[in-house]
Amino acid sequence: MIVMKFGGSSVADAARLRHVAEIVKTQLARKPAIVLSAMGDTTDHLLEAGKTALLQGKVEIKNVEKLHKATIKTLKLPIQKEIDGLLDELTRLLSGIALIRELTPRTKDYLVSFGERLSVRITAAYFKTVKMNAKAFDSFDLGFLSNSNYTQAELLKESWDLIPQKVLPLIKGNVLPVVTGFIAKDEKGSITTLGRGGSDLSATMIAAACRAEEVQVWKDVDGILTADPRIVKNAKPVEHVSYEEAAELAYFGAQVLHPRAMQPCMKTGTSVTVKNSYNIEAPGTRIETAQSHAAKKSPPVRAITSRHNVTLVDIVSTRMIGQHGFLAEVFSIFARNGASIDMVATSEVSVSLTIDAAHDLGELKKELSKIASVDIKSGKAIVSIIGNVKRSSEILSRAFRICQFIGVTVQMISQGASKVNISFIVEDTEAADVVKALHMDFFDSQEKPRE
Ligand code: ASP
Ligand code: MG
Repeated sequence: MIVMKFGGSSVADAARLRHVAEIVKTQLARKPAIVLSAMGDTTDHLLEAGKTALLQGKVEIKNVEKLHKATIKTLKLPIQKEIDGLLDELTRLLSGIALIRELTPRTKDYLVSFGERLSVRITAAYFKTVKMNAKAFDSFDLGFLSNSNYTQAELLKESWDLIPQKVLPLIKGNVLPVVTGFIAKDEKGSITTLGRGGSDLSATMIAAACRAEEVQVWKDVDGILTADPRIVKNAKPVEHVSYEEAAELAYFGAQVLHPRAMQPCMKTGTSVTVKNSYNIEAPGTRIETAQSHAAKKSPPVRAITSRHNVTLVDIVSTRMIGQHGFLAEVFSIFARNGASIDMVATSEVSVSLTIDAAHDLGELKKELSKIASVDIKSGKAIVSIIGNVKRSSEILSRAFRICQFIGVTVQMISQGASKVNISFIVEDTEAADVVKALHMDFFDSQEKPRE
């Protein structure tokens, strides 16, 4: 068994669905389960519709309706009624939001779930017309049980047993399950979502729980790239990375995979391949265990990413000297204020932390000022080098030489505990230049990578 996941742009319209069917046909002998995102930009359109209902009291589903109806018409699918049923339900939900002018996180999850629920029904119906034994499923009917942390739900451990109980009999019975990514249900029976881009996690979860051979994640890029192609024009696909590297990459700016998507497969050692549905010939990126990965020859640096709009918090207190509990106090203030920390560096008398800019800094500053002197600076960026930490001295010396060469001051540095990530803070306005220069040095220099 394998799992094949297709993202929104891979299933964006009728033409793309035809193409996806061709790709799936080549893998039928390996007994796939299919996981889908919402078609194209449907999730964004649903969120916009929610906002329109909330703020203007208007029900507006034209964007969503147009794409799905056009697809059914072009592909001549006999499921008009079922789709109309879902669109009616969506209209009623939006009328409710418009009426009471309230959109709770729980309702938001119910709202965006329509994207995936529509896409699996349309795709399965089309697969049937091209002679595949497909059947559409909502993932919550196949064992996806989550907590009630709406918009960012986490799957409960029961899912590890429930999913194979439901999915394996289908696979044995030669059914091609077409399953909604992104959504689940909590124990109260309300629909939840796993966070934006969460279909990746749905796919890796099915693959890991069912002990599948591999999971193929089909995107619209040639795999995980050495840098953001919007910044570095000649960014290249990375052939293989470890789960740890992939997770760091996902979190620190490479928007290829959901940050938590690696977790299930890390547990079971299931390999993940990121492929491009727009360029099937490209080998893609293979994500696998550190051992099989270490056996392969590789350059010191895998990829360079940047994360923008970061706030740097410098905390200085002589109370830290020889004291215990000070850092715990600092961390608990961040926790109380809901600020999630990305990077930390400490010395005897100071600690520097970074958080995303979105937080309310006033309250944080007030509380921190009670125990230390605090300096909060916004407009920073984190540049991360993901690579072979056994060569961290070489990586660091090259990175610092480059920063010095282009006149950029490094304001903080930390080497992540996962041992694959070296990150440093620069001004937001300098980040793109730093990434470009580092990429040139590590990937484009004449020097052959040392093994
Ligand atoms: N449709 C959802 C989103 O756009 C989930 C996904 O695509 O993975 O975030
Ligand atoms: Mg999407």
